[in-house]
Amino acid sequence: MECAITPERKRYLDELFDAMQIAAEGYYVYVCDLAYDYSRWSLEAIAHFDLPGEYMVGCKDLWGNLIFPGDQDVYLKSIDDIFAGVAKHHDMQYRVRNRDGQYVVCTCRGTVIHDESGNPVYFVGTIQNNGINISMDSLTGLQNLYGLFSHLDGLYQKRTKANIMMIGIRHFSTVNEMWGYDFGNMVIHKVVQELKQIFVNDGILFRGDGVRFILLSRSLSMEQLCLKYEEVCRRISAELEMDGYHPDLDISGSALEISTFDVKPQAMYSCLNYAYTISCEQGNGQLQIFRNEVDQNRTDLMTLINVIRRSIEHDCEGFVLYYQPIMNAETGTVSGCEALLRWYNPEYGLVPPNRFIPVIENDPSFFRLGEWILRKAMEDAKPFLKNHPDFELNVNISYNQLKRASFVETVRRNLEITGYPAKNLCLEITERCRLLDIRRLSLIGTQLQEMGVHFAIDDFGTGYSSVGILKQLKCDVVKIDKMFVDHIACRDEDARLLKALNEVAMIHGSTVCAEGVETQEQCEIIRKCGIHTVQGYYFSKPVPLETFQEKYVTEK
Ligand code: C2E
Ligand code: CA
Ligand code: CA
Repeated sequence: MECAITPERKRYLDELFDAMQIAAEGYYVYVCDLAYDYSRWSLEAIAHFDLPGEYMVGCKDLWGNLIFPGDQDVYLKSIDDIFAGVAKHHDMQYRVRNRDGQYVVCTCRGTVIHDESGNPVYFVGTIQNNGINISMDSLTGLQNLYGLFSHLDGLYQKRTKANIMMIGIRHFSTVNEMWGYDFGNMVIHKVVQELKQIFVNDGILFRGDGVRFILLSRSLSMEQLCLKYEEVCRRISAELEMDGYHPDLDISGSALEISTFDVKPQAMYSCLNYAYTISCEQGNGQLQIFRNEVDQNRTDLMTLINVIRRSIEHDCEGFVLYYQPIMNAETGTVSGCEALLRWYNPEYGLVPPNRFIPVIENDPSFFRLGEWILRKAMEDAKPFLKNHPDFELNVNISYNQLKRASFVETVRRNLEITGYPAKNLCLEITERCRLLDIRRLSLIGTQLQEMGVHFAIDDFGTGYSSVGILKQLKCDVVKIDKMFVDHIACRDEDARLLKALNEVAMIHGSTVCAEGVETQEQCEIIRKCGIHTVQGYYFSKPVPLETFQEKYVTEK
């Protein structure tokens, strides 16, 4: 095509291009003179995509024609704004057809350079070819978590600050159940289109697990993210319409600032995920910003999680189990114990589980740790059985462990390896597990009970508590949370409530363990309520294995 660009302007363009080419090694580079719509592109891009040549007139449409039809709208919106002088930055991801006719995911970033009078002169930028690799989600065309992690790795290595936001739809399974999977897929597709419109030029969108999307943005501040999140809620939760239907979508979200570079991307992601879980649990759809709290040792949470992840990778180095006795309320003798996790590191000291478990639970490395806890506890407690054949070892299981399809198999395998009898094991499941589909949960419960393993509902009465769960899940033990025990000695209604809870549990065939018992008076009331077992500082705090053995595992 004939072009009117002057030799002088072409020389400037080439100089700018050469500079860009040096600065952005590994990327395709483009420089466009906006007045003449004349551009120069990297030869590698020409070799890969069906473009007429290194120098082009009308690159906006030539390139746009190669873009996947479903991605063209957002591309055009962004690029038209650039050419119209309305927008200054371009930052997005779309699929582009290569010379073999396959679509590859490209990340395209650009900026406008102005002259002395503020008129836009050049549009310059880079294109990263992410290839047709495993990092693309076929339903949405977004990069999946593999893609996210490779971008996070890039930021980590270059120490580039960014903000990251996770947006998800809670209870999406009900959409599938009510309207069918095809409709569900259409909804996801529509949601992604909306997100792409909302975040046009703000960064890259990824698809996370399930119906969760992640925005990685180098341009939006936390305040801007919050405003954008409100827009997401409005457009997706309130206004989205499909074929005349209004699917009721509950949005949850979390955000995190990436500004520490001593922390690996996986640890950052776990923190983002943790904040997202809180947003889901609160159920009001509010954006939860991860607070990187600093403790007395002046350690921030994200750094701690990073170090703990490393410990897990090194054969769970630094983790220890403490044991707290569980007593028979009637006889006052030991009937079992609860294994409680601690983490020790010379730099951080003995770190209590509440500081790290809620976050690390959301990390894939937790499965390894969870299995380590299970096996170690069984190995430790096996010798107790010699003199106490009815001894019951309680091990805490977190929601994410339970969610895994292989969970029951993991328990079975570890019973086999350790030779620990199933009937002496009780798995404690917190009420959070109720986020799991109740049918799945009760199937897992039945499978465990068929193996002979007992299971307990932990922290009963907190969170989403309802006695309905006792009816749905045939659990062996109900552990009543400390807050129901705290005031029984001074408030008669609390003592009556505890007694009533015990009766309800008994109706459903479960025994009760009262937690957090600190005084003899409380202990006496609990015994009178007919409660089966008690646990608390009144008897003992959690202690190391050796201490437990010395004090409680006596020769009979
Ligand atoms: P939890 O399962 O409810 O464990 C009982 C917690 O209450 C323990 O705290 C225990 O030390 C504390 N406690 C027991 N009796 C009393 C008492 O009389 N007064 C007071 N104030 N506290 C008492 P810990 O060991 O700090 O554990 C906290 C939580 O961390 C546990 O709550 C559990 O949710 C989690 N956790 C601990 N170990 C593990 C584990 O191995 N796996 C998993 N998934 N979670 C664990
Ligand atoms: Ca517990
Ligand atoms: Ca508990």
